[in-house]
Amino acid sequence: MPATGLSLEPKETLLSYEEIERLAKLFVQEGIRKIRITGGEPLVRTNIDTLFYKLGAIPSLKELALSTNGVLLGDRLEALRNSGVTQLNISLDTLHEERFHRITKRDEFAKVMLGIRLAASQQPAFRTLKINTVIMRGVNDDEILDFVHFASYLQDMALLASLDTPSLSKPIIEVRFIEFMPFKSNQWTDNGCVPYTEMMDKISEYYTLEALNSDQAVQGPAKSFLVKELGVRVGFISSMSDHFCGDCNRLRLTADGKLRVCLFGEDSLDLRSMLRSGSSDQEIVEAIHKAVALKWEKHPEAPVLIRIMDRDMVAIGG
Ligand code: SF4
Repeated sequence: MPATGLSLEPKETLLSYEEIERLAKLFVQEGIRKIRITGGEPLVRTNIDTLFYKLGAIPSLKELALSTNGVLLGDRLEALRNSGVTQLNISLDTLHEERFHRITKRDEFAKVMLGIRLAASQQPAFRTLKINTVIMRGVNDDEILDFVHFASYLQDMALLASLDTPSLSKPIIEVRFIEFMPFKSNQWTDNGCVPYTEMMDKISEYYTLEALNSDQAVQGPAKSFLVKELGVRVGFISSMSDHFCGDCNRLRLTADGKLRVCLFGEDSLDLRSMLRSGSSDQEIVEAIHKAVALKWEKHPEAPVLIRIMDRDMVAIGG
Protein backbone atom coordinates (compact mmCIF):
# COMPACT_ATOMS: atom_id res chain seq x y z
CA MET A 1 0.00 0.00 0.00
CA PRO A 2 1.56 3.34 -1.01
CA ALA A 3 2.14 5.82 1.83
CA THR A 4 -0.38 8.19 0.26
CA GLY A 5 -3.11 5.54 0.24
CA LEU A 6 -5.29 4.88 -2.80
CA SER A 7 -8.39 6.40 -4.28
CA LEU A 8 -11.20 3.87 -4.45
CA GLU A 9 -12.61 2.75 -7.79
CA PRO A 10 -16.32 3.28 -8.52
CA LYS A 11 -18.18 -0.01 -8.00
CA GLU A 12 -19.26 -0.31 -11.64
CA THR A 13 -15.62 -0.53 -12.77
CA LEU A 14 -15.16 -3.73 -10.74
CA LEU A 15 -16.15 -7.12 -12.10
CA SER A 16 -19.32 -8.48 -10.50
CA TYR A 17 -19.22 -11.91 -8.87
CA GLU A 18 -21.23 -13.28 -11.80
CA GLU A 19 -18.65 -11.89 -14.27
CA ILE A 20 -15.78 -13.36 -12.24
CA GLU A 21 -17.57 -16.72 -12.09
CA ARG A 22 -18.08 -16.76 -15.87
CA LEU A 23 -14.40 -16.07 -16.48
CA ALA A 24 -13.31 -18.56 -13.81
CA LYS A 25 -15.32 -21.31 -15.51
CA LEU A 26 -13.67 -20.50 -18.83
CA PHE A 27 -10.18 -20.54 -17.28
CA VAL A 28 -10.90 -23.92 -15.62
CA GLN A 29 -12.29 -25.23 -18.90
CA GLU A 30 -8.94 -24.30 -20.47
CA GLY A 31 -6.90 -26.12 -17.83
CA ILE A 32 -6.49 -23.82 -14.83
CA ARG A 33 -6.73 -25.94 -11.65
CA LYS A 34 -6.03 -23.42 -8.92
CA ILE A 35 -7.60 -20.02 -8.28
CA ARG A 36 -6.33 -17.63 -5.67
CA ILE A 37 -8.39 -14.67 -4.51
CA THR A 38 -6.04 -11.89 -3.56
CA GLY A 39 -6.02 -8.14 -3.33
CA GLY A 40 -5.71 -5.42 -2.02
CA GLU A 41 -7.65 -7.18 0.67
CA PRO A 42 -10.37 -9.56 -0.51
CA LEU A 43 -12.18 -9.81 2.82
CA VAL A 44 -13.26 -6.16 2.73
CA ARG A 45 -15.46 -6.76 -0.31
CA THR A 46 -19.16 -7.10 0.54
CA ASN A 47 -20.45 -10.68 0.57
CA ILE A 48 -17.12 -12.09 -0.61
CA ASP A 49 -18.24 -15.49 0.74
CA THR A 50 -20.71 -15.61 -2.17
CA LEU A 51 -17.77 -15.56 -4.56
CA PHE A 52 -15.95 -18.32 -2.67
CA TYR A 53 -19.07 -20.51 -2.81
CA LYS A 54 -19.45 -19.88 -6.56
CA LEU A 55 -15.81 -20.70 -7.29
CA GLY A 56 -15.63 -23.59 -4.85
CA ALA A 57 -18.49 -25.26 -6.75
CA ILE A 58 -16.69 -25.27 -10.13
CA PRO A 59 -16.02 -28.91 -11.03
CA SER A 60 -12.36 -29.69 -11.87
CA LEU A 61 -11.05 -26.80 -9.79
CA LYS A 62 -8.64 -28.45 -7.36
CA GLU A 63 -7.52 -25.57 -5.15
CA LEU A 64 -9.26 -22.40 -4.02
CA ALA A 65 -6.80 -20.17 -2.19
CA LEU A 66 -7.11 -16.88 -0.35
CA SER A 67 -4.39 -14.31 0.30
CA THR A 68 -5.27 -11.94 3.09
CA ASN A 69 -3.70 -9.36 5.38
CA GLY A 70 -5.44 -11.21 8.23
CA VAL A 71 -7.21 -8.20 9.75
CA LEU A 72 -10.72 -9.62 9.23
CA LEU A 73 -9.70 -13.26 9.29
CA GLY A 74 -10.76 -14.13 12.83
CA ASP A 75 -14.39 -13.22 12.14
CA ARG A 76 -14.53 -14.98 8.79
CA LEU A 77 -12.83 -18.32 9.39
CA GLU A 78 -16.02 -20.30 9.78
CA ALA A 79 -17.50 -18.95 6.54
CA LEU A 80 -14.22 -19.51 4.69
CA ARG A 81 -13.98 -23.10 5.82
CA ASN A 82 -17.53 -23.83 4.74
CA SER A 83 -17.21 -22.18 1.36
CA GLY A 84 -14.49 -24.45 0.00
CA VAL A 85 -11.30 -22.43 0.53
CA THR A 86 -8.46 -24.96 0.71
CA GLN A 87 -5.40 -22.72 1.18
CA LEU A 88 -4.83 -19.65 3.30
CA ASN A 89 -1.91 -17.26 2.78
CA ILE A 90 -1.54 -14.54 5.37
CA SER A 91 0.83 -11.62 4.88
CA LEU A 92 2.87 -10.69 7.92
CA ASP A 93 6.19 -8.83 7.66
CA THR A 94 7.03 -8.43 11.32
CA LEU A 95 6.34 -9.93 14.73
CA HIS A 96 6.76 -6.57 16.47
CA GLU A 97 3.72 -4.38 17.00
CA GLU A 98 5.51 -1.05 16.56
CA ARG A 99 7.16 -2.21 13.32
CA PHE A 100 3.87 -3.55 12.08
CA HIS A 101 2.41 -0.10 12.48
CA ARG A 102 5.36 1.47 10.67
CA ILE A 103 5.16 -0.98 7.74
CA THR A 104 1.39 -1.18 7.31
CA LYS A 105 0.37 2.23 8.67
CA ARG A 106 -2.42 0.41 10.49
CA ASP A 107 -2.98 -0.36 14.13
CA GLU A 108 -4.20 -3.92 13.55
CA PHE A 109 -1.36 -6.09 14.85
CA ALA A 110 -3.36 -7.76 17.62
CA LYS A 111 -6.24 -8.62 15.27
CA VAL A 112 -3.90 -10.12 12.67
CA MET A 113 -2.06 -12.24 15.24
CA LEU A 114 -5.34 -13.48 16.69
CA GLY A 115 -6.60 -14.36 13.19
CA ILE A 116 -3.42 -16.33 12.45
CA ARG A 117 -3.57 -18.24 15.73
CA LEU A 118 -7.24 -19.09 15.20
CA ALA A 119 -6.52 -20.27 11.64
CA ALA A 120 -3.69 -22.50 12.87
CA SER A 121 -5.76 -23.94 15.67
CA GLN A 122 -8.52 -24.84 13.20
CA GLN A 123 -6.20 -26.88 10.99
CA PRO A 124 -6.55 -29.08 9.03
CA ALA A 125 -9.72 -27.33 7.90
CA PHE A 126 -7.46 -25.65 5.34
CA ARG A 127 -5.02 -27.91 3.55
CA THR A 128 -2.20 -25.41 3.85
CA LEU A 129 -1.56 -22.28 5.86
CA LYS A 130 1.28 -20.07 4.73
CA ILE A 131 2.70 -16.95 6.27
CA ASN A 132 4.07 -14.64 3.56
CA THR A 133 6.90 -12.46 4.77
CA VAL A 134 8.68 -9.94 2.56
CA ILE A 135 12.19 -9.48 3.94
CA MET A 136 13.60 -5.94 3.61
CA ARG A 137 17.14 -5.06 4.63
CA GLY A 138 17.25 -2.72 7.62
CA VAL A 139 13.51 -3.14 8.19
CA ASN A 140 12.86 -6.75 9.24
CA ASP A 141 15.88 -8.83 8.16
CA ASP A 142 16.71 -9.38 11.83
CA GLU A 143 13.47 -11.38 12.22
CA ILE A 144 14.17 -14.32 9.91
CA LEU A 145 14.85 -16.78 12.75
CA ASP A 146 11.93 -15.40 14.76
CA PHE A 147 9.64 -16.23 11.85
CA VAL A 148 11.01 -19.77 11.68
CA HIS A 149 10.21 -20.16 15.38
CA PHE A 150 6.78 -18.60 14.84
CA ALA A 151 6.02 -21.17 12.11
CA SER A 152 7.11 -23.93 14.46
CA TYR A 153 4.78 -22.57 17.16
CA LEU A 154 1.87 -22.45 14.68
CA GLN A 155 2.61 -25.98 13.56
CA ASP A 156 2.50 -27.26 17.14
CA MET A 157 -0.89 -25.57 17.52
CA ALA A 158 -2.14 -27.12 14.28
CA LEU A 159 -0.89 -30.60 15.19
CA LEU A 160 -2.58 -30.38 18.55
CA ALA A 161 -5.84 -29.35 16.88
CA SER A 162 -5.59 -32.20 14.36
CA LEU A 163 -5.50 -34.82 17.14
CA ASP A 164 -9.28 -34.43 17.28
CA THR A 165 -9.60 -35.47 13.62
CA PRO A 166 -6.98 -38.22 13.11
CA SER A 167 -8.59 -39.35 9.84
CA LEU A 168 -7.67 -36.11 8.11
CA SER A 169 -4.24 -35.47 6.63
CA LYS A 170 -1.71 -33.58 8.72
CA PRO A 171 -1.79 -29.80 8.32
CA ILE A 172 0.92 -28.07 6.32
CA ILE A 173 2.26 -24.83 7.75
CA GLU A 174 4.95 -22.93 5.89
CA VAL A 175 6.57 -19.54 6.33
CA ARG A 176 7.59 -18.13 2.96
CA PHE A 177 10.33 -15.56 2.81
CA ILE A 178 9.88 -13.33 -0.22
CA GLU A 179 12.55 -11.17 -1.79
CA PHE A 180 11.65 -7.49 -1.85
CA MET A 181 10.56 -6.57 -5.39
CA PRO A 182 10.29 -3.20 -7.11
CA PHE A 183 6.74 -1.90 -7.42
CA LYS A 184 5.33 1.52 -8.03
CA SER A 185 5.53 3.60 -4.81
CA ASN A 186 7.14 0.90 -2.62
CA GLN A 187 10.45 2.77 -2.09
CA TRP A 188 12.43 -0.11 -3.55
CA THR A 189 16.23 0.07 -3.50
CA ASP A 190 18.74 -2.49 -4.75
CA ASN A 191 20.20 -2.74 -1.29
CA GLY A 192 16.79 -3.33 0.33
CA CYS A 193 16.48 -6.71 -1.37
CA VAL A 194 17.94 -9.55 0.72
CA PRO A 195 18.81 -12.46 -1.63
CA TYR A 196 17.29 -15.76 -0.57
CA THR A 197 20.73 -17.38 -0.22
CA GLU A 198 21.55 -14.82 2.50
CA MET A 199 18.28 -15.68 4.28
CA MET A 200 19.13 -19.39 4.06
CA ASP A 201 22.60 -18.72 5.47
CA LYS A 202 21.07 -17.00 8.50
CA ILE A 203 18.85 -20.00 9.24
CA SER A 204 21.64 -22.48 8.50
CA GLU A 205 23.79 -20.95 11.25
CA TYR A 206 21.42 -22.64 13.72
CA TYR A 207 19.45 -25.30 11.83
CA THR A 208 19.73 -27.83 9.02
CA LEU A 209 17.73 -27.01 5.90
CA GLU A 210 16.70 -30.10 3.96
CA ALA A 211 15.38 -29.48 0.43
CA LEU A 212 11.89 -30.87 -0.17
CA ASN A 213 11.33 -32.63 -3.46
CA SER A 214 8.46 -31.61 -5.73
CA ASP A 215 6.11 -34.26 -4.22
CA GLN A 216 6.68 -33.00 -0.69
CA ALA A 217 6.72 -29.28 -1.42
CA VAL A 218 3.60 -27.13 -1.37
CA GLN A 219 2.91 -26.37 -5.03
CA GLY A 220 3.98 -22.90 -6.00
CA PRO A 221 6.95 -20.77 -6.90
CA ALA A 222 8.79 -21.19 -3.57
CA LYS A 223 11.95 -23.23 -3.03
CA SER A 224 10.81 -25.31 -0.05
CA PHE A 225 12.87 -26.77 2.77
CA LEU A 226 12.31 -28.65 6.00
CA VAL A 227 13.99 -27.15 9.05
CA LYS A 228 15.12 -30.54 10.28
CA GLU A 229 15.50 -29.91 14.00
CA LEU A 230 12.09 -28.19 14.26
CA GLY A 231 10.17 -30.24 11.70
CA VAL A 232 8.71 -27.13 10.14
CA ARG A 233 8.73 -25.93 6.52
CA VAL A 234 10.16 -22.75 5.13
CA GLY A 235 10.01 -21.51 1.55
CA PHE A 236 11.92 -18.84 -0.33
CA ILE A 237 10.58 -16.82 -3.25
CA SER A 238 13.63 -15.71 -5.17
CA SER A 239 11.97 -13.40 -7.70
CA MET A 240 14.92 -11.01 -7.90
CA SER A 241 18.07 -13.06 -7.34
CA ASP A 242 17.01 -16.25 -9.14
CA HIS A 243 13.93 -15.67 -11.26
CA PHE A 244 11.62 -18.60 -12.04
CA CYS A 245 9.81 -17.06 -15.01
CA GLY A 246 10.49 -20.15 -17.15
CA ASP A 247 8.24 -22.23 -14.86
CA CYS A 248 5.68 -19.50 -14.16
CA ASN A 249 2.17 -20.50 -15.20
CA ARG A 250 0.31 -17.72 -13.40
CA LEU A 251 -2.27 -15.39 -14.84
CA ARG A 252 -3.72 -12.45 -12.95
CA LEU A 253 -7.17 -10.97 -13.31
CA THR A 254 -7.40 -7.53 -11.73
CA ALA A 255 -10.52 -6.42 -9.89
CA ASP A 256 -11.39 -4.18 -12.85
CA GLY A 257 -11.21 -7.07 -15.29
CA LYS A 258 -7.78 -6.72 -16.90
CA LEU A 259 -5.78 -9.86 -17.58
CA ARG A 260 -2.07 -9.67 -16.70
CA VAL A 261 0.09 -12.51 -17.88
CA CYS A 262 2.98 -11.26 -15.74
CA LEU A 263 3.07 -9.51 -12.38
CA PHE A 264 5.44 -6.95 -13.81
CA GLY A 265 3.99 -6.51 -17.29
CA GLU A 266 1.29 -4.16 -18.45
CA ASP A 267 -2.40 -5.09 -18.68
CA SER A 268 -2.57 -7.59 -21.54
CA LEU A 269 -6.26 -7.83 -22.23
CA ASP A 270 -9.43 -5.95 -21.25
CA LEU A 271 -11.75 -8.82 -20.35
CA ARG A 272 -14.30 -6.52 -18.71
CA SER A 273 -14.96 -4.83 -22.05
CA MET A 274 -15.33 -8.20 -23.75
CA LEU A 275 -17.77 -9.40 -21.09
CA ARG A 276 -19.85 -6.25 -21.24
CA SER A 277 -19.92 -5.93 -25.02
CA GLY A 278 -21.45 -9.36 -25.54
CA SER A 279 -18.40 -11.39 -26.59
CA SER A 280 -19.05 -15.13 -26.77
CA ASP A 281 -17.21 -17.62 -24.54
CA GLN A 282 -15.28 -18.78 -27.60
CA GLU A 283 -14.13 -15.23 -28.42
CA ILE A 284 -13.01 -14.67 -24.83
CA VAL A 285 -11.08 -17.97 -24.74
CA GLU A 286 -9.32 -17.14 -28.01
CA ALA A 287 -8.32 -13.69 -26.74
CA ILE A 288 -6.95 -15.23 -23.52
CA HIS A 289 -4.87 -17.74 -25.48
CA LYS A 290 -3.39 -14.93 -27.61
CA ALA A 291 -2.48 -12.93 -24.48
CA VAL A 292 -0.90 -15.95 -22.77
CA ALA A 293 1.30 -16.56 -25.81
CA LEU A 294 2.93 -13.17 -25.08
CA LYS A 295 4.08 -14.18 -21.57
CA TRP A 296 7.70 -13.17 -20.97
CA GLU A 297 10.46 -15.73 -20.90
CA LYS A 298 12.20 -13.73 -18.17
CA HIS A 299 11.39 -10.46 -16.44
CA PRO A 300 13.72 -7.48 -17.11
CA GLU A 301 16.23 -6.26 -14.51
CA ALA A 302 15.11 -4.06 -11.60
CA PRO A 303 15.82 -0.59 -13.15
CA VAL A 304 13.59 -1.43 -16.11
CA LEU A 305 10.89 -2.91 -13.88
CA ILE A 306 10.72 0.27 -11.82
CA ARG A 307 10.25 2.30 -15.00
CA ILE A 308 7.51 0.16 -16.48
CA MET A 309 5.40 -0.60 -13.40
CA ASP A 310 2.07 1.09 -13.98
CA ARG A 311 0.10 -0.15 -10.96
CA ASP A 312 0.75 -0.32 -7.25
CA MET A 313 1.09 -3.88 -5.95
CA VAL A 314 -2.13 -3.43 -4.03
CA ALA A 315 -3.96 -2.90 -7.34
CA ILE A 316 -2.53 -6.02 -9.00
CA GLY A 317 -2.67 -8.86 -6.51
CA GLY A 318 0.43 -10.79 -5.47
S1 SF4 B 1 6.77 -14.30 -15.56
FE1 SF4 B 1 6.25 -12.50 -14.38
S2 SF4 B 1 4.82 -13.24 -12.83
FE2 SF4 B 1 5.88 -15.03 -13.64
S3 SF4 B 1 7.63 -15.32 -12.30
FE3 SF4 B 1 8.36 -14.03 -13.99
S4 SF4 B 1 8.09 -11.95 -13.24
FE4 SF4 B 1 6.84 -13.25 -11.89
